[in-house]
Amino acid sequence: MDVQKKLAILADAAKYDASCASSGTETRDSRDGKGMGSTDAGMGICHSYAPDGRCISLLKILLTNACNYDCLYCINRASSNVQRARFTVEEAVKLTLDFYRRNYIEGLFLSSGIIRSPNYTMEQVVRVAKSLREDHLFRGYIHLKTIPEADDTLIAEAGKYADRLSINIEVPTETSLTKLAPEKDVRAIRRTMGRLRLKLDEAKESKSTKHAKRFAPAGQSTQMIIGADSSNDQTILETSANLYSSYQLKRVYYSAFSPIPDASLGLPLQAPPLIREHRLYQADWLLRFYGFEIGEITNPLEGGMLPLDIDPKLAWALRHRDRFPLDVNRASREDLLRVPGFGVKTVDRIISARRIMHIRAGDLARLNVPRNKALPFIVLADHKPAASLLDSRRLVELFRPRATQLGFGF
Ligand code: SF4
Repeated sequence: MDVQKKLAILADAAKYDASCASSGTETRDSRDGKGMGSTDAGMGICHSYAPDGRCISLLKILLTNACNYDCLYCINRASSNVQRARFTVEEAVKLTLDFYRRNYIEGLFLSSGIIRSPNYTMEQVVRVAKSLREDHLFRGYIHLKTIPEADDTLIAEAGKYADRLSINIEVPTETSLTKLAPEKDVRAIRRTMGRLRLKLDEAKESKSTKHAKRFAPAGQSTQMIIGADSSNDQTILETSANLYSSYQLKRVYYSAFSPIPDASLGLPLQAPPLIREHRLYQADWLLRFYGFEIGEITNPLEGGMLPLDIDPKLAWALRHRDRFPLDVNRASREDLLRVPGFGVKTVDRIISARRIMHIRAGDLARLNVPRNKALPFIVLADHKPAASLLDSRRLVELFRPRATQLGFGF
């Protein structure tokens, strides 16, 4: 099979993995004439997403789509009737360099089906990154998928060459993992996340010493498939919160389950609405940066699910109208973060601005506040919303058309 054909198969096989964003790495560039590639803004890695929200700036491939395991939700599972292919290490290296030279990509996202053993597979994946870095002085971004239960030395090597490492938690609960991916063991996955965290901590501590260790400077992330089991959003967010706090993950990526050909009867026939994935990202943001608790944004009356028609922060505000309107010129940072339409940067700008002025409605555009979303909930030097508007049952209708737009403008 020629490399182009392999590429068609192995790029397609990798498209189900959402965990490939590339933020937070160290700065490298090759403007000194040594090496190739860069992670610098402008010339290097940037966040580039396809319309469905997936990252497209990296060459995203599997080393092979052959796999010993039989995870029911996976197109590459052992019992799947798909055409198999496998890159050699040299082919994967050459492809990355060719794509980079042609300016198609700024880095590589490499994963693999599990062949022979976790160690053998991990070793192949690491060899690609090692060759790129050592033989070709490649300085672009590298994200490697880590195989749970691979030896510590292989994990250490992976972290030496990669910017980011990730291990998929796969599904939100242990019960679902046992049912849908019988060969996978949640304890092994978590153990490996724990090992990565230790190595990340060691590298951080060694930074200011003479013997600084390099280990995946963009940290670790994971992916959770949404809608392959019956877990509600509350359970999903609880699992994420636990992963963030236990392993200091940079990101949990939510990937809406896509029905696959010849799927098992244990899987739903339909994909969940893509907007559910988006609402989970918004909720994840609210928990990490806006001071919300899970129980505040998922609604037990809705079966622990996030609303799909409006964003979770607006839904919270509409359920807590007694907390509004909020005086923007006096409210605490914590309260301001709960105003629909106010992002973290907006709140910081407001706090700086109000030290020297009284904020008025005309200042909102300069502060990047979506006026229509925020005005019913705030008091300004020259604005007070009509009490009847805030109390109105129809207030939610004002937001519905806008709420389907994508973006993190809470
Ligand atoms: S281990 Fe499971 S999810 Fe990964 S490639 Fe194999 S079958 Fe697919």
